[in-house]
Amino acid sequence: MNKIISQLKKSKNIFVASHINPDGDAIGSLIAMGLGLDWLKKSVTFYNESSIPAVYRFLPEINRIVQKLDGKSEYDTAIILDCSDIKRIGDDAFSIMENIQLVINIDHHITNTQFGHYKLINTSACATAELVYNIIQSLDVPINMAIATSIYTAILTDTGSFRFSNTNISAFKICEEMIKVGVEPYYIAKNVYGKYSAGRLKLLNLALNSIEISYNGKLSIMTLTQNMFKRTGAYDDDIDGFINYARSIEHVKVAALIHEQSNGKKKSGCGKFHVSLRSDGTVDVAKIATSFGGGGHYTASGFSIEANLADLKVNIFKLAEDL
Ligand code: 5GP
Ligand code: MN
Repeated sequence: MNKIISQLKKSKNIFVASHINPDGDAIGSLIAMGLGLDWLKKSVTFYNESSIPAVYRFLPEINRIVQKLDGKSEYDTAIILDCSDIKRIGDDAFSIMENIQLVINIDHHITNTQFGHYKLINTSACATAELVYNIIQSLDVPINMAIATSIYTAILTDTGSFRFSNTNISAFKICEEMIKVGVEPYYIAKNVYGKYSAGRLKLLNLALNSIEISYNGKLSIMTLTQNMFKRTGAYDDDIDGFINYARSIEHVKVAALIHEQSNGKKKSGCGKFHVSLRSDGTVDVAKIATSFGGGGHYTASGFSIEANLADLKVNIFKLAEDL
C-alpha cells in the first residue's frame, strides 16, 4: 500500500483502466480512482474498451471514460482495476502495457494472476471500490459527491444490494460515509434498478423461459441467443442480474448463464459464448471457470468459449454430477 501511495504521488501521467463488459464496480472504481487522481492535479486517462451499459450512464463524469487511446500520450503509471488478469482490459491490453513502466494491480478476485509491479489484492474486499476508497483515503483526497456516488454505486451493485456473500462490514461503513457526503440511496437505486427498457424485460421473459435444470436439481442453465436479442430489441449489456433468477431456484447450487456473443456464429456449427457461473456459496465456481480458461470469485465467475451450444450445455450439465 505505501509503495502504491508514494508511486501515485510522484506520477504525472496516469492510465486507469478496468475490465471489458464492465459492471458497476468496474465503472464506479474507475471513475472514483480517476477523480481522486484529478484532485491531485495528475493528468489522468480513464479507459474502458467496452461501451458503458445504459444503467451506468447516469454516473458523474462518465464521459471521461475513453474507449480508444490517441497513441500519443505517454504514461508513467497504469492502474488496472477489478481485473483478475491483465488480458481482461481487452484486445489492446498488451500494446498499451508495453509502453507503461509501472503497473499497479488493484483487485478482489480470488483468481488474480498477480500481474503488475505493485499490487493491492484483497479477496475479502466487498468490491474493488472498497480498495479504491482505501487508496483515496491514504492519498488524503477529500471525497466529493462525484467520488461518493461512484463508490456507493460500485459497492451497491457488486454486493447485489448488500445480499451477496461478499457483503461485509466495510460495505455498510463506506456506504454510510458516502451517504453522509450527500449520496441519496433512492436516486442511485432508481437509476440502477428502476429505468429498464421494455426490451430488457421482454428479454428477461425469454431468459426465464430458457431455464433448464439438471436431473438432480442442483444445476440450472439459462441461455440467451443473439436471436433473442433481435426479437426483443434488447442490448448485450441488458442482462445484468438475469443469472440470479437461475441461481435463486430452490436446491440449485450452481447456475450458468450462456450468452451467445454478437458476431459469434461460426460456419462449423460453433459459436462464441460467454458463460457466467454463480453458486449458492457451497461450491467454488472460480475453480470451475478457471478449468474452462476463465476466472472470478468463489461464488461468481465466468469464462469465454467457442463451442457448439448443445455440446456446451452437455458439458455444463456434467458438472451437476459432482455437486
Ligand atoms: P460475469 O458473470 O458478470 O461475467 O462475471 C462474474 C465474475 O467472473 C466477475 O468478477 C468477472 O470479473 C469474472 N469473469 C467473468 N468472465 C471472465 C473471464 O472470461 N475471465 C476471467 N478471468 N474472469 C471472468
Ligand atoms: Mn468487482
